[in-house]
Amino acid sequence: MPTPAEFPTRPLGGFRILNCRSAELIGLLTARMTAGIKTALVFANTNFVVQCQDLRDAMQEPDVLIANDGIGLDLASLAIHGEKFVDNLNGTDLTPALLQSLPKPTRVYLYGAAPESVAGAVRRISALPNVVVCGYADGYGRRIPHDQIIDDISQCQPDLLLVALGNPRQERWMIENRDRLEVPLTIGVGALFDFLSGSKARAPAFVQKLHLEWAFRLMLEPRRLLKRYTYDIGVFFALCMRIGKRV
Ligand code: UDP
Repeated sequence: MPTPAEFPTRPLGGFRILNCRSAELIGLLTARMTAGIKTALVFANTNFVVQCQDLRDAMQEPDVLIANDGIGLDLASLAIHGEKFVDNLNGTDLTPALLQSLPKPTRVYLYGAAPESVAGAVRRISALPNVVVCGYADGYGRRIPHDQIIDDISQCQPDLLLVALGNPRQERWMIENRDRLEVPLTIGVGALFDFLSGSKARAPAFVQKLHLEWAFRLMLEPRRLLKRYTYDIGVFFALCMRIGKRV
């Protein structure tokens, strides 16, 4: 079985970021999950790099994988390494692709998002052939109080845990609870449950192809996202240039 160490990475913003194709990463994740080897996967977009700086050391662990997500990472990579990443590994596409390609029945637990979003996501992914939803909880403590989540997850014994609390909340939660979670594969999925349930619209395919999904999201939620796609982008590039190839 390939180990994460055999996968090429590229330092950016102080993180060691995978530089591989989506199918290769799905193969690695599936093999490790099937073998019961603990793995955490997070997706690095520009917001992640800015928000998760204090988690850099914790994310050096060999069982924490960081995938590149979006055009901002490509541009920073071009500036620092002279080339883009070989693929865009965003969680909104990669996680459903992983769920669709599961080779055998897999217990999945969903944690995060608003109650109606996570319930809608449960309905969507339950329809997939090898997905067995063994439990779920919203990210606001309504269905299950926050301090009981780990116990609930333990009782449900998932093979795969999807955490949708946004950056940096989901990454911090995954890192802080790593030792208590007896789950082979944990993925931080951001707004995935909102997209799966339809409570948030995804950009049309041609907008995604043009790498303008961020502009579509900005148009839908200007108040919340304006600072992220203006000031924070400046902070992101400044950080990347200052840190260079160090991790
Ligand atoms: N979220 C949550 N609990 C919180 C804050 C956020 O469950 O306390 C959920 C939110 O409902 C959404 C997901 O986290 O489904 C991603 O949040 P957001 O859209 O802010 O993250 P982004 O993808 O924009 O970074």
